[in-house]
Amino acid sequence: MINNNRRKFVTFVGAGAVAVPVSALIGTLPSHAADMEMVNPEDPTAAALQYVVETEMEGKNCMTCALYNGDEEAGMCPLFQGKKVHATAWCSAYAPKA
Ligand code: SF4
Repeated sequence: MINNNRRKFVTFVGAGAVAVPVSALIGTLPSHAADMEMVNPEDPTAAALQYVVETEMEGKNCMTCALYNGDEEAGMCPLFQGKKVHATAWCSAYAPKA
């Protein structure tokens, strides 16, 4: 019985030791997508993917891409971590929503 309580206590303290650093890390992340800067088409990754801020291809843009998570103005794309893409943009990794 004593060993069981000791095990629970050690597990609880260990979980707390992990939870505090994770919460500290989350506090350093941008609190909202609005805090993030936009992808620059001249960034190496963007250039490699032929990213353009405003596509001329009718109906093919970030808004209609399966990877896009945002609104009519801007949103997140997993290919550009920590930056936002324009809803009107396009890149060569475009994948139409199902
Ligand atoms: S993969 Fe390309 S087209 Fe799709 S959301 Fe990301 S940047 Fe836009």
